[in-house]
Amino acid sequence: SRTLIIAANWKMNKGPQETSDFLNAFIPKLDGFTGSADIVIAPPFISIPTAVGTLGGHSSVAVSAQNVSDKDNGAFTGEVSTDMLKELHVEYVILGHSERRSIYDETDAIINAKVKKTIAAGLKPIFCIGETLEEREGGKLESVLRTQITEGLKDVSDADLANVVIAYEPVWAIGTGVTATAEQAQDTHKFVRSVIADLYNTTAAEAIRIQYGGSVKPANAAELLGQPDIDGALVGGAALDPDSFFGILENS
Ligand code: 13P
Repeated sequence: SRTLIIAANWKMNKGPQETSDFLNAFIPKLDGFTGSADIVIAPPFISIPTAVGTLGGHSSVAVSAQNVSDKDNGAFTGEVSTDMLKELHVEYVILGHSERRSIYDETDAIINAKVKKTIAAGLKPIFCIGETLEEREGGKLESVLRTQITEGLKDVSDADLANVVIAYEPVWAIGTGVTATAEQAQDTHKFVRSVIADLYNTTAAEAIRIQYGGSVKPANAAELLGQPDIDGALVGGAALDPDSFFGILENS
């Protein structure tokens, strides 16, 4: 009963020209899309106006940012605010991606501040969590995820949780070509849902959408998306090409 959500995280790829090239190739394909998944594209900030403009009234594709400031406005050089995103009709914000955590040292506390700011602005966080290979092999999978969820969603109310999407992205599967097996992903998603049940309640746990991310491609999408607790995909590399991203949708 949960609607699938399939999102393209372009990371630091595609300026305005490539963004319009992608969408001009991608949008016509949607005429042949018979599925019901929510579709989301997350371009770099600078390409968001082009994405919104090229999509025009194409309301079946939502636009996401890949980050946002936890501050309102003012002397924060290099930052972008939630108000700025709202002015462009952005709907989602990816937060807590492992690249933000590991390369830019974003802590659970920073991510939590951004999650709360995003929700307060009426935008929807795509809140990313995931363990490293070392953590998984060291038996720390569950404690790492539980901490990320507990700290990242701290002070997010039951009502506000309805606007949150969780993305489970095992760090060892991102950009590596190594996907979690459907069974590993399903087991972990089930665990994540149980943590939401502990922190909130079973109704909230049943309702929340949990995407899988990490080397998703057309060839493995059907099996992953067929798992009972996998409610979508957050796609990096395979979402850079319109045929391949559409191929994932077709397998949803
Ligand atoms: P890849 O699909 O390239 O592994 O990236 C996954 C990811 O990090 C999406 O946010």
